[in-house]
Amino acid sequence: MSAGQPDRKPRRFPLQLDQVATVKSSGPKPAPVAQTGARELLRPQAHLQQIEQDRRRHTTPQGVGMDSIHVRRRMVERLMLDGISHQHVLDAFVRVPRHLFVDTALVNQAYEDTSLPIGLGQTISKPSVVAAMMQLLCVRPGLQVQAEVTVTHKPLGQCLEIGSGCGYQAALLGHLSRRVVSIERLRDLHLKARANLDTLRQHLPEWPDVRLVYGDGMIGHAPLAPYDTIIAAAGGAALPQAWIDQLAPGGRLVAPLEEARGGTQVLTILDRLPDGSLQHSRAGAVLFVPLKSGTT
Ligand code: SAH
Repeated sequence: MSAGQPDRKPRRFPLQLDQVATVKSSGPKPAPVAQTGARELLRPQAHLQQIEQDRRRHTTPQGVGMDSIHVRRRMVERLMLDGISHQHVLDAFVRVPRHLFVDTALVNQAYEDTSLPIGLGQTISKPSVVAAMMQLLCVRPGLQVQAEVTVTHKPLGQCLEIGSGCGYQAALLGHLSRRVVSIERLRDLHLKARANLDTLRQHLPEWPDVRLVYGDGMIGHAPLAPYDTIIAAAGGAALPQAWIDQLAPGGRLVAPLEEARGGTQVLTILDRLPDGSLQHSRAGAVLFVPLKSGTT
């Protein structure tokens, strides 16, 4: 998995850690009966509306106990079966309630290992993939050369996230980082992430330092660079030079990268060694939304 190794078929992602190390709603109301004189109007949509009301009632957090820590623990047990073993990563998944980040209609799927739509054609990534990427950052080789005690509690140091989306991953990263800077190019999603993190703030006793930035993540965020860790939730044809420039010595970048134009994406790992040199490695096939330039 190191630079210069011949190309080979991408392996399934996530990898095992040892492989990685080598390199409310009220009840339904009766449909109103509109009358013209003694005659009742036919309302063909009424029963559909009632079905929708019933569906919403069954998928709200109250109905399915989504606020229970046990639901998150079950998800974490599945992550462990998928090879996630880093305790800080597992703890973050226990702490952050994913159902707070998805639309009401999707709440009953919030703790399944699946990507879910968050609007504007974007998706919140699968928990197993997010966890595996975070674990890759936690085991960066550069961490060993940093002697500060705080590093062990905040193994991601100062972290840059490209693609805030709904803010879920930013919240997870916040538990492992001294500070997270998370950039989103779609204004409405940036505002959604902001609102979600405000809601989360009321649930958490200790609020991590997460800064949401509206902008084009392809240029990184120079004012707070360098970053010990960089993670991208969208994949392009090449790693933007700004990300490489903003990666600190001992730092690690994890991002999906297109192998061929419009082709498969492979998770790419870039380490900046303490001497400043760069080392590339690959960690299996992934499928992320495209990295796009500019803002909307
Ligand atoms: N981490 C997110 C997943 C977001 S999906 C979550 O937990 O919800 C990927 C996101 O990357 C999308 O919201 C998309 O708009 C964003 N994106 C794509 N290209 C970008 C760019 N150049 N700069 C910033 N965000 C970008």
